[in-house]
Formats: sequence, structure tokens, C-alpha cells
Amino acid sequence: MRPVTKITPPPHYQVPATQKFAALKGGVINPVNYVFQVHNNTPIQTTAILEKMQSYSQNPPAKKTVDAEAFRLMKVRMYGIYGSSRRDLIDNFGQYCNFCGLPVYDSSLAVEHTLPKDQFPIVCVDYNNFLLVCPVCNSKKGSRPTYADGVAWSGVPHPTLAQVRDAAFANFMWATLKEAYRGFYPTFLVKPVGQGNWTALPPNYAFYLQNSFIETSGQEVIASIFDGNQLQRVAVMAFVNPNNNVSDNMLKLIGQNDFNPNAPELSDRRILNLTKTWLAVLEALKGFEIAVGTGNQTIIDTFFNQLKSMASAKGFYYMWIFILQYFTANTNMKTLVTEFVQKTANNTYFPGTNTAEIP
Ligand SMILES: [Zn+2]
Repeated sequence: MRPVTKITPPPHYQVPATQKFAALKGGVINPVNYVFQVHNNTPIQTTAILEKMQSYSQNPPAKKTVDAEAFRLMKVRMYGIYGSSRRDLIDNFGQYCNFCGLPVYDSSLAVEHTLPKDQFPIVCVDYNNFLLVCPVCNSKKGSRPTYADGVAWSGVPHPTLAQVRDAAFANFMWATLKEAYRGFYPTFLVKPVGQGNWTALPPNYAFYLQNSFIETSGQEVIASIFDGNQLQRVAVMAFVNPNNNVSDNMLKLIGQNDFNPNAPELSDRRILNLTKTWLAVLEALKGFEIAVGTGNQTIIDTFFNQLKSMASAKGFYYMWIFILQYFTANTNMKTLVTEFVQKTANNTYFPGTNTAEIP
């Protein structure tokens, strides 16, 4: 996962300090105003509305009551606000999913509530609670973690709302944590085309520069992969693994590994594209290694720019770092990964990258 630094306060996103609710048809008092015991169109503090929504979500009002209707109207109003944060989030993080790393076209990126809005309405318009995600991660995550999860994880008998929120947040590896890169590592699997079991590829086979993408066939990515002696036409897969419990929770939250690697359904385009990205890294590196061999700085720069551009187009930042790190350690390209990290942490390539703990 690519760790990111969130720019706060956001340059454009704003939440009005107060809300006014107009009379219903015929001058009838708006249920929200009734609940707050104010006249129609009286400004009500937004924070008071959010607190009321939180209490309703924990103790849902009975159906067809004034409280139920007031809660509905508050949701309509407050849920209409957060969407306008999307522009600031895209400017900050670029057009990538903050969970899986998939490059996603602008209009398909959704504002994600890390603590879900129906469980934690108290933070439904709070910019600190927002990330940007792809449609797959968004639907897989749904309304988790729940308030009940937070209560259970807080470890105290009668937790305060703040304790529940903190516990719900602390159990997952979010992209805004500087440790996010170290939380995950890919493994590389191979099996005969259309049959058989997956086996792990050692790095020196997985990162053999003559490996190459062949095609996507049905649900399988087919590639030409080094087997220790020669290149073989096989099915391949890149799998994401957790380094710790909170990373494991994160992968489960977004259903990243919702399939059995021995009976995979690669229809999940996150895994499909991650797998193709592995092979794209090798392709970019093959060109770069040749350029390095020429010793000509102009050629080296040209190929390095190509490598950065391909990374930006293919996404899955951590896959690039993981493989470049291997080449940095095992070849004479000793500055490769650090140069890549430093020169892509900008608006041209990967906006908002927090480079603090990336190798
Ligand atoms: Zn995603």
C-alpha cells in the first residue's frame, strides 16, 4: 500500500457551521426543528446535528416517528456534503485507490469514509475520515468497521464514543499511516495453464528480466516465466500478504484475498491488474538495465522517465517499490529505489506519497 500524507485543512472542502431546515408543505414544522425545539429556518449547529445523528444511529428511533423522520432528513442533508471533498482528495492523492493501489479514472473514484457514515455519522462530513477508493474496494468494505466492532475492540466495559472511534480506526492499516508500505508484501505464484496447483516463485525467478506477459485467458494471466532453466508458458498471479494483524484486517476489510489461491477467481480486476503490473515492472526494468549498460546519462534519463511514466499509468505503487528494491539490493543499480521514491512523490506521478518509511 502507498502511504500518503493528507493535506489539512483541505483547500476547498468546507462544512457550513450551521444548517437551516425549512417548513414542510403547509407551514408544518420540520421534524428536525421539532426535535431541536426551534422555529423553522433557525440555524442549528452542524456539530449538534452530527451528535444527534450519532445517538440515533446507536439507538435507532422507532419507525414512523418524528425522530425517525428527523433522522432521515438529517442524513439527506449531511450525506449531501461530503461528496464535494473529492476534488481536494484527488489533488492530494492522485487518481489511485487508497486501498488497493489500482489507478482509477477520476469519475469512478469514490470518497470513502474510513469509519462508515451510517455507523459513525459523527464523522460523516469530517475530512480526516475520508480516503479515495475504487468501486471494488468501496463495495467490498461496505459499512465496516461497525460501531459494535469498535465497542468490542475498545476493551473497556462502557467505552466513550472517542474510545470506540479510536479502537475502530486502530485495527486497520490505513494509507494515511506512515507504516502503510511495510504492512504488506506481494508473493508471486505460478501454475500450469488451465490446471494444477499454484506454487510460489522464488524472487530470482519471479524477477527474471526476460519474463513477459503473454495474454489474459479467461480468468488467468498467462506469461512466459523463467523456471530455473528456461522460459515456460504458465499461469501467474501476484498475491498480497500482510506483515502484521492490522494489515491482515485491512486486506480482509477490502476482500483483497477473497479467493483461495489454489482455486482462484481472478475476475477481481485488482488482482488481475496487480499481476500484470508485476510483469510491467520487469518490462520497464529490462529497458532501463540496457540503458544503464550504455553508460550514457541522456539515455539513462530517458529510460528512467519511461519507467516513472509506466509506474504512474499502471499504479500499484508498492509493487514497483518491492521489485525495484530487489534490483537495488542485487545489481549495480544502487540508487534505483531511492531515486524512484524521491522523483515520483509529486503531482506528475504519485501525488501525496509519504516517503518517510519507504526504503
Ligand atoms: Zn481499490
